[in-house]
Amino acid sequence: MRVTVIGTGYLGAVHAACMADIGHEVLGVDIDVEKITALGEGRVPIHEPGLQEILGRTVASGRLRFSTSLSEAAEFGDVHFVCVSTPQRRDGLSCDLRAVDAVVDGLAPRLRGRCLIVGKSTVPAGTTARLAARVQELAPEGTNVEVAWNPEFLREGYAVQDTLRPERLVVGVMSQRADQILREVYAPMLSDGVPYISTDPATAELVKGAANSFLATKISFINAMAEVCDATGADVTTLADALGYDSRIGRRFLSAGLGFGGGCLPKDIRAFTARADELGVGGAVSFLHEIDEINSRQRQRTVDIARDMVGGGFVGRRIAVLGATFKPDSDDVRDSPALAVAGAIHREGADVRLHDPEGMDNARAVLPMLDYVHDVKKACLGVDLILHLTEWADYRRIDPAALAVVTPARKILDARNALDASLWRSAGWTLRALGRPTAP
Ligand code: NAD
Repeated sequence: MRVTVIGTGYLGAVHAACMADIGHEVLGVDIDVEKITALGEGRVPIHEPGLQEILGRTVASGRLRFSTSLSEAAEFGDVHFVCVSTPQRRDGLSCDLRAVDAVVDGLAPRLRGRCLIVGKSTVPAGTTARLAARVQELAPEGTNVEVAWNPEFLREGYAVQDTLRPERLVVGVMSQRADQILREVYAPMLSDGVPYISTDPATAELVKGAANSFLATKISFINAMAEVCDATGADVTTLADALGYDSRIGRRFLSAGLGFGGGCLPKDIRAFTARADELGVGGAVSFLHEIDEINSRQRQRTVDIARDMVGGGFVGRRIAVLGATFKPDSDDVRDSPALAVAGAIHREGADVRLHDPEGMDNARAVLPMLDYVHDVKKACLGVDLILHLTEWADYRRIDPAALAVVTPARKILDARNALDASLWRSAGWTLRALGRPTAP
């Protein structure tokens, strides 16, 4: 099939490459000229494991091309995937749909014949219906254009495998024909047995908001338990293990720590509550405000514990921050808890040296005033405290005994509960963590 992918960021670049890899002819479109130039040359502008190989191979094969032209997209595609950004609005909690609207307004008048516009961006319930009406207004006479929604559940860091082997596909369609087209697009996944849920657009849109609300709730639940553990001397990691053995609960997403961030979960749960308010059912999901608040509180708690560890104030203190991205295996620093903490302690007077395996350039663009150090040992040289804020595997491999040589203060706050506490303590370190006893 001839497929366009409009918006080639963290979602769209991966989707375009994977669609080409499963055999479709793909045109990726974006307004960002630099990104399109890089992708067109087979260069990945983000860090996403496995993407470079797949992009290189599909661009070289000629099945994947890139352009900045919506006219070319309209001319080319049978199916148009919309993968543009839907950030939080500046003036409130709801979702800013201007990019999605701009794509539909730009594409629809240029379309010819029969085609399907499929949204993948995360949008509030009701968006597909609104856009379908807009398309009917704008599409030239004689065309047959439908709109469907196919929310995306990929995780950054695992985006390629999540796209090629998703845990489920959800499509919200208004006709059998749209459903048939999407079954054809995803035929290789369907023949691999991936569950395919075909439903109405409102349900499909809601699945995404509900899934992220549930995941955020799970994380904030365990972080709330961590706060209670801190007050009682209990250990939240043991608590989570014990809870996790209950198959009704499960261990995944029960890791207490600095909380969630990124370009999705925070803004998605806020947009979900804002849309529920508009629909007059805000009360039903008002608990999500508390989930959001518990999450933000972990950033403050981390700053407070760090301040305590350096004697009550940051002025004149040297602090090494390990991790800038919102999660490991990504260079994404959008709403990163690690950067929020790094920025906060810098504002309180700390001299912050930051290290991240992949996210330094993006972090520098947000917090240029920090000191960026490309080597963990150099970042930790002579510091009063190390903050472990993003759980990169590299940091778990640090030898605490070797690091102690350059960091005589030997103090570390593991805000991700990811380091081997007994190993660090036996090497003479004072290690604190969220929701865990301060001494073994
Ligand atoms: P992103 O910012 O990385 O990418 C969005 C891209 O859209 C950018 O390259 C931007 O230049 C482009 N764009 C903006 N306006 C455009 C326009 N008018 N025409 C063409 N291109 C335009 O964002 P992302 O992380 O890829 O997220 C995109 C959407 O996917 C969001 O709705 C997000 O919530 C959703 N989503 C993201 C993920 C994820 O892990 N990143 C997962 C699931 C869903």
